Amino acid sequence: MLHLDDKALSLPQVAHIVRLENENYRTKTFTLDVHWPEAYPGQFLMAWLPGVDEKPFSLLSNDPVQISVAAVGRFSRQMHTLSSGDTVWVRGPLGHGYQPQSGPMIGVAGGYGVSPLHFLARRLGDGRERHIIIGARTARDLLFREKFRAAGVHLHVTTDDGSAGQHGFVTVALLPLLERLPTATVYACGPKPMLEALRSLCQERNIACQLSWESYIRCGFGVCGSCAVGKDGWLACKDGPVEVILPARV
Ligand SMILES: Cc1cc2nc3c(=O)[nH]c(=O)nc-3n(C[C@H](O)[C@H](O)[C@H](O)COP(=O)(O)OP(=O)(O)OC[C@H]3O[C@@H](n4cnc5c(N)ncnc54)[C@H](O)[C@@H]3O)c2cc1C
Repeated sequence: MLHLDDKALSLPQVAHIVRLENENYRTKTFTLDVHWPEAYPGQFLMAWLPGVDEKPFSLLSNDPVQISVAAVGRFSRQMHTLSSGDTVWVRGPLGHGYQPQSGPMIGVAGGYGVSPLHFLARRLGDGRERHIIIGARTARDLLFREKFRAAGVHLHVTTDDGSAGQHGFVTVALLPLLERLPTATVYACGPKPMLEALRSLCQERNIACQLSWESYIRCGFGVCGSCAVGKDGWLACKDGPVEVILPARV
């Protein structure tokens, strides 16, 4: 039976931008005057600009709420025109995020996937071994290198063209870690082909993974069906966006 969550159904709340930070040539971090202490890594909010659209963004922080937005289309470019003090309407926190496990963390981030993984890496800063792999097409597309270093994680960088870090996809950095840390959990967020590759690699090695899927979220509470992933009716907004895949034997 569909559970209609109060948060999803509530009217958007007014939020003001209190700080803006440039992350790279097309990505800005927005700090809002919103505090959601109950929110956790992997959850998202719906941001609404009246007359433009409403779009999902992963939480980078919950208290205060922060999101990082890459300017790639109509909505995100409009977000980038906003200044400190301007208003954006938000609904959230929404969705099921990461379920932290004991043992080492291996975070894998492609594109804006750095946001939820930075939030998670901070949450898991309890002395355990934490690795983050960030992958991008080129050096200029990389995000959050300094932020991750400041969080004290072991940082691994890959670029498709070799202009920074290791040359290749994130899997180049991931494979040796999977060999060395068989009790780790892989937490990932990024483009679909990257997540599909990670799922196969982890399943072949019987390693737990948690994958945050990007899809076309509209309503945010499981009614419209536009964010279905796969064929069995799994909805990114209601059942995810994080899919938890346990190893066959624990
Ligand atoms: C659960 C979830 C969490 C998300 N979190 C974030 C987040 O933290 N930060 C963020 O910036 N976006 C995030 N997104 C994507 C975001 O919701 C929008 O899809 C994105 O901002 C593009 O919307 P738009 O209207 O500006 O562009 P659109 O008109 O929808 O797209 C314009 C063009 O850009 C392409 N495009 C869309 N997204 C990207 C991308 N990331 N990189 C390169 N090209 C792209 C599209 O394929 C299209 O060709 C998330 C999506 C989901 C489902």
